Amino acid sequence: MKKLILLLLFIPVLSFGQDQTYFDGPYIFIEKNKLIEKKIINGKVFSKILRTSSYDTTYSPEKSTFNNIRKIAALSDIHGQYDLVIELFKNNKIIDENLNWRFGKGHLVITGDIFDRGDKVNEVLWFIYKLEAQAKNKGGRVHYLLGNHEYMILYNDLRYLHEKYKTSSTLLNLEYDELYSEKTIIGRWLRSKSTIVKINNNIFTHGGISEDFISYGDFNLEKINDTMRKSIPQLKKLRKSRNEVKSDSIFYNVYYGNKSLIWYRGYFKNNLTDTDISKILKLVDSDHIVVGHTSNEEVVQLYNNKIFGVDSSIKKGKYGEVLIIKNKRFFRGTLNGKSIELVSK
Ligand code: ZN
Repeated sequence: MKKLILLLLFIPVLSFGQDQTYFDGPYIFIEKNKLIEKKIINGKVFSKILRTSSYDTTYSPEKSTFNNIRKIAALSDIHGQYDLVIELFKNNKIIDENLNWRFGKGHLVITGDIFDRGDKVNEVLWFIYKLEAQAKNKGGRVHYLLGNHEYMILYNDLRYLHEKYKTSSTLLNLEYDELYSEKTIIGRWLRSKSTIVKINNNIFTHGGISEDFISYGDFNLEKINDTMRKSIPQLKKLRKSRNEVKSDSIFYNVYYGNKSLIWYRGYFKNNLTDTDISKILKLVDSDHIVVGHTSNEEVVQLYNNKIFGVDSSIKKGKYGEVLIIKNKRFFRGTLNGKSIELVSK
């Protein structure tokens, strides 16, 4: 009996131990009267025809402002670390044991960068896709804001792409950005997403809001999100190259430059004063700004709780946190589910 148990324990190790099962997908392509689902298992592509009714094929943008929301959770820069995020969400009661929404009417904000670095990007995308629908059914919301890595992928800038996805792209005989084109389910879904959202008196965006960005035009969230959505390349034949986008230097600087919403790191550089931050907050009519993009070991507060950094280095695959906002109080939700209040210094 003992021998049998030992043997049973060893079988999976022997078969998957050295050569791990390679799984990727599904990628769902939209054709005229059907959907084509493609999955890759151990170097082979498996295709299946699905009815068009299996998935929504149009996604309308969410509004950019929400009020009277009683609880909010925020995190950032997941970078394909599916398993860690599942653990973090379970322990912080955002999902249940079966990975279903458990956050009621709460709002979950992902401030960008699900793509790149890690090798479970599609697992995260489909999980968030599912969670978004479940949340909405319960009166809650999931806001997946686009970060610089989402925009990079949509522009086929593959500098940070995991090797696995280069293989997938080759096997599917498509350029990588075509796996997320507007002819795919996830591609259309991504193109409906916002880059900035305001919930109660908190603004969420990937990098941050610089004074330069505000000075460019009137600060209107709907307008900014609309401009960002329209700047995403559409059909391949119409795709603008990075250089073409760059050639409109004003537009490029404002929306894709160092001081843009998706690339800015200014809050973490120690050259802004509390007064500078108060000025920015006043201009954007908000009391707090929550950002990702700049990595810290945990969720942090800066400038007396005016700014929160929620990139807690999940990308390393070892640890991560969520920011919880409840009754105007701010908490770090740790990986094991502890709540630690953030207090201004
Ligand atoms: Zn980033």
